[in-house]
Amino acid sequence: MSVRDNVCRIEERIQRACDRAGRNREAIRLMAVSKFQSLESIKEAYEAGIRLFGESRVQEARAKFGFTTTGLADMELHCIGQLQRNKVKNALQLFSCIQSVDRNELILELARQCERESKTIDILLELHTGESSKTGYPDVDRLTEAVELALSYPLLHLRGLMTMAPYTDDSRLIRQSFRQLAEAQRTLIQRFPGIDMGVLSMGMSNDFEIAIEEGSTLLRIGTALFKGDAS
Ligand SMILES: *Cc1c(COP(=O)(O)O)cnc(C)c1O
Repeated sequence: MSVRDNVCRIEERIQRACDRAGRNREAIRLMAVSKFQSLESIKEAYEAGIRLFGESRVQEARAKFGFTTTGLADMELHCIGQLQRNKVKNALQLFSCIQSVDRNELILELARQCERESKTIDILLELHTGESSKTGYPDVDRLTEAVELALSYPLLHLRGLMTMAPYTDDSRLIRQSFRQLAEAQRTLIQRFPGIDMGVLSMGMSNDFEIAIEEGSTLLRIGTALFKGDAS
């Protein structure tokens, strides 16, 4: 199966999940998670219409996307992996959004480097909702503190929340995890009326349909896009 075929099949599944959930396809962005993928495969995805890509490591992202000769005009690249403080400066040159902001120390460093480079950056705050991943803020009160901190730096543009569900076959646990993120979003909107919190980044290859049912606005799909799926 080519990447183009995979994109088509995933688009069909997204559309069916949207129909079931009574949601509009236009309300959901599809990101191709291109970590471990060659530039060739990435170009195939681009040619199949994908414009949003996600990488978890700064060095790998720089090797593949750090040059203007890739021919991938109007594409957007987000950071979805844990970001070390000493990589922030390079990250700002590559990514338009850091989805994986998981600690206040990182907010401070992003703000500091944005100021030095006269740049702005979109950020999502990551909530830890599944046992298997260790990253992310532990609860909505810690998120609230993070929001307060982020809002005090105008160069940081807070857009919403991100999570990873536990890696399991138990769809109840996965659903619980996504509901927790949607619930955190509602709580934060109550606590900070008027805040820009619209992005819910959740759903990967093995759980994106549940994520759509629970309100995801951004799917991060790697394996099913580049390698196909069994269904
Ligand atoms: C790798 C990764 C994905 C994509 O996972 P697949 O199961 O390959 O779709 C999504 N989000 C994050 C944060 C990842 O690290």
